[in-house]
Formats: sequence, C-alpha cells, structure tokens
Amino acid sequence: MAKVLILGAGISGHTAALYAKKYLKKQHDVIIVSPNSNYQWVPSNIWVGVGLMKPDQVKFKLAPVYKKKGIIYKQALAISIHPEGDSEIKKGFVTIKYVAGENEGQEEKVDYDFLINATGPKLNFAATEGLGPDKFTNSVCTYDHAAHSWENLQKSLEKMEKGEKQTFLVGTGHPLATCQGAAFEYILNIAFEVNKRKLNHLADLWWISNEYELGDFGMGGAYVKRNGYITPTKIFAESILKEHGVRWIKRAGVHKVEKGKVYYENLAGEQHTKEFDFAMLIPGFTGAGMKAFNKLGEDITSTIFAANGMMKVDADYSGKPFEEWKASDWPLIYQNPSYDNMYAAGIAFAPPHTMSKPMQSPNGTKIFPTPPRTGMPSGVIGKIVAQNVAHRIKTGKNEHPHEASMAKMGAACIVSAGYGPIKGQAAVMTVKPIVADWEKYPKWGRNINDTVGVVGTAGHWMKLFMHYMFLYKAKGKAGWSLIPE
Ligand SMILES: Cc1cc2nc3c(=O)[nH]c(=O)nc-3n(C[C@H](O)[C@H](O)[C@H](O)COP(=O)(O)OP(=O)(O)OC[C@H]3O[C@@H](n4cnc5c(N)ncnc54)[C@H](O)[C@@H]3O)c2cc1C
Repeated sequence: MAKVLILGAGISGHTAALYAKKYLKKQHDVIIVSPNSNYQWVPSNIWVGVGLMKPDQVKFKLAPVYKKKGIIYKQALAISIHPEGDSEIKKGFVTIKYVAGENEGQEEKVDYDFLINATGPKLNFAATEGLGPDKFTNSVCTYDHAAHSWENLQKSLEKMEKGEKQTFLVGTGHPLATCQGAAFEYILNIAFEVNKRKLNHLADLWWISNEYELGDFGMGGAYVKRNGYITPTKIFAESILKEHGVRWIKRAGVHKVEKGKVYYENLAGEQHTKEFDFAMLIPGFTGAGMKAFNKLGEDITSTIFAANGMMKVDADYSGKPFEEWKASDWPLIYQNPSYDNMYAAGIAFAPPHTMSKPMQSPNGTKIFPTPPRTGMPSGVIGKIVAQNVAHRIKTGKNEHPHEASMAKMGAACIVSAGYGPIKGQAAVMTVKPIVADWEKYPKWGRNINDTVGVVGTAGHWMKLFMHYMFLYKAKGKAGWSLIPE
C-alpha cells in the first residue's frame, strides 16, 4: 500500500486529493493536511466583500467530504519536510502541527511515498508596514477577510448616504504583488454598488497598481480579440475602469500604510502618498514558510524551495535575462528536481521567471507584478499531478503521461463587475497560452482566436454558474470528475 500525502486543501490540493483517491481507490492511502476546516471557493470572496454573498455560501466543511471519499484528513499545519527521513523514519515524512481537535498543539511525523505540496500562497501582509485587515487596509483573499471588508465598506456607504465624500483605493499593496485580477474585480464591484445606490457624486474611486501599464495582470498583458478588433489589454482595462468612473495610479510600489494614507514609490523613483477612506490592497505572496531537512538533520530549505519560499519543480531556474526566457522554461509535471517523489501544485510551485518585464526605480526598488497562477491552472495542475502519481504507484514506473504547462494551457478569467440577473456585468477574458509564447505565436504572443475579451451580462451568468458548478464539483457529488477544472 502506498501513501500519498497532500499538503493544503485549496483549489489545487483538494482537486489532487479527489483525483488521487478516485484513481487509487481503497488499495492506497490518500492523506491531506490543511489547517482550515473549510474548503473555500476563493473567486466568490469578491461577492462576500460587497455583501452579495455570505461566507457560508462560498465555503463548506471538508471533513464530511473526505470521510465519504475515504481520504484521511488531518486539520493541521505542515511545518517541515524531511524527504530522506531521519534516524527513526527511513522514508520521507512531513512534520505537522494540529490546529484543532483533541490533538491540538501536538506535532506528528506523517510519512509518505509521494508528497504533493499545494500550500498556496502565504498572504505576506507583514512585508508592507501597516498593510492588512489587522492594520489599516482590507483584504478579500479569504472569506473572513472579505466579510470584514464588507463591514468596513458598509460604513463608507453609510457615510455617503449622509452626504459625506469617500475615497476608495483598491489594488496592490506591495511592489511585487500579483493577483491584480481579484483587486480589479473588487473595485468594479464597489463601483457597481456605489452606482446602484446613486452615490457616484460622492465617490472618488482609485486603482493603484505595480503594473507598468494597466491590463498587465502579471502576465505581461495580452492582445485580445474584442468585437472583431484586436485590442491590447491596456486599452481593455483602461476603458473598463473609465466606464466605471475609476481613476488610476500605475507603476506604484506601495511600501507603507498609515491610517487613511498609503505611501508609494513609482518607477521614476518619486515618493508619493495617496489618502483614502477605504482601501483594499493585495499583499505580496510568499511560500507557506515550511523548512526542509535531510536525513542528517541539515537544513536543505534553499535546495527545495526558491528564495520566495515556493517549491522548485521541473522548470528552468537559471535566472537568464528576461529577453531570453522561453515558454519551454515552464514546468510540465511539477516534480521536484532533488526528490522525484515530491511535487508542487498550484501557487506552491516556484515560477521560473516573471511574465511581466522586471522593472526597477532609480533607487533600485523592484516594481512589477509577479506571475499569477489562477484557479483554472491550479486545478488542472492538481489533477495531472494526482494522475501521474497514481500512474507511478500502479505501474511502478517513474514516468509521467500527463503534462500541464502554463505555456501551453489556456485560462479563462471572469471579472465580475456587478451582480443581478439583468444588471449584472462581467468582463470575460480567455488567454491561450497563459504564458506568452513568442516563438510559436510571433505576432500576438498567444493564439489570437482563443485569446478573447468581452464585457456583458452573459459573463455575470457564467461567473454565477461557475460558482455553483465548482462548489458542486469540490463537494465530490455525483459526476464531479466530469466537470472540467
Ligand atoms: C479574491 C480572489 C479572487 C480570485 N478570483 C479568481 C477568479 O475569478 N478566477 C481564477 O481563476 N482565480 C481567481 N483567484 C485565484 C485563485 O483563488 C487561486 O489561483 C487559487 O486559490 C490557488 O489555488 P491553490 O490551491 O494553489 O492555493 P489556495 O487555494 O490558497 O490553497 C492553499 C491551501 O493550503 C493551505 N495551507 C497553507 N499553508 C499550509 C501549511 N503550512 N500546511 C498545510 N496546508 C497549508 C491553505 O489553508 C489552503 O487550504 C482569486 C484569488 C483571490 C484572492
């Protein structure tokens, strides 16, 4: 009997667990370690952040699903990885610490034959002074953050109902932050709510971002087909913000927040401030912060993980200049180069390079978005890693029939811009591939027939449909595996 240990029950790890169990059945153990007792459909946190959904609508308890599927669940935090074992355990193991239940506070060594690290991003609020829901800004990165944002947003809306002007500032809260799409979606939803209440005259809406140009979204921008024309995402994003009455500050590296005031440096090296009444700023992301040790107990963290704390996989980490990067630098199977029974899926894997051009101010401050890994690739990667691990267990061969390069697969991103059967709106963007491949597609960097941008009510319906469909799939209900990631 083989043991597959999965760390993290987010979009990638949970998908991996469901597929691993589907393929390995009762003959092998699938164990998942995750600190949160709930699964959350993160993309719908935006709607929690504007009061259109309750946290209960975007989450469900993991334990009953895992019990039904025969997956062993440990509500714990992974602390360290020991790929070679130690003097006591002669195979790979992970030290975990329980965060709930009768074992709360206790540590345990969980051994494995195959390890899938899907611990996602650590929301690194601490990297920016004053940032985060415990300090002076809001967040929509988790359902409880989003619920807290809605509480604060209501206070601003109430003040506006009484005739008081309010400044809203939404975007990136660190010079190297990613996930611009989520922030973009949130400001559009705030604009929609303000408009719904006929309070536009009292709202000063601002987008602040580390992007060189709007619409970069951490993927170096794209050219999209729109109404028969080919449009750069810069124009696409700017026109959407304009339509919603949002002004913008770009090339901004936010480095400090005080009550009601953001401090940022721009790419010209100038220091500026921007005052706000309500701010939602995405923090920098790092890896989960796990350590790694060899069998002698020596620290091998820097061998296993990249400097940003994300796990190294089968990618090119040589650090060559931006102009020399290629689509083929991106990983295919997400296998760690040092330990072949170890994989990293979703945001937990270290990208080989940024997709946006690295830029720095004359003061040496790096200001550009790091690469996003959105829900769709995170789910697909979780699935193919589980398929390959199951294949290896069943055949005993170290071969990987399934691949999922972000430089080959496409992704769809639906940015909702309002809610409701008739008035709901969304900007739908599809890109293929996610990482531009200028060798294969020298004209536009991507397949222009599959790289599309449209805005309309249909997108809102699609987003709502995806909310219910993906929660249904994640609950492992009948036919779940027929629903694509
Ligand atoms: C507000 C918001 C809106 C978004 N909207 C969209 C969208 O519309 N479309 C889209 O495609 N993408 C969207 N994304 C991105 C998408 O949510 C992510 O790509 C996706 O969640 C990444 O999946 P993951 O499994 O890698 O990480 P996560 O979903 O973050 O899961 C990581 C898991 O690991 C657990 N974990 C962390 N540390 C440890 C540890 N030490 N030990 C064990 N477990 C650990 C966490 O608790 C969590 O369960 C959005 C993101 C945000 C924040």
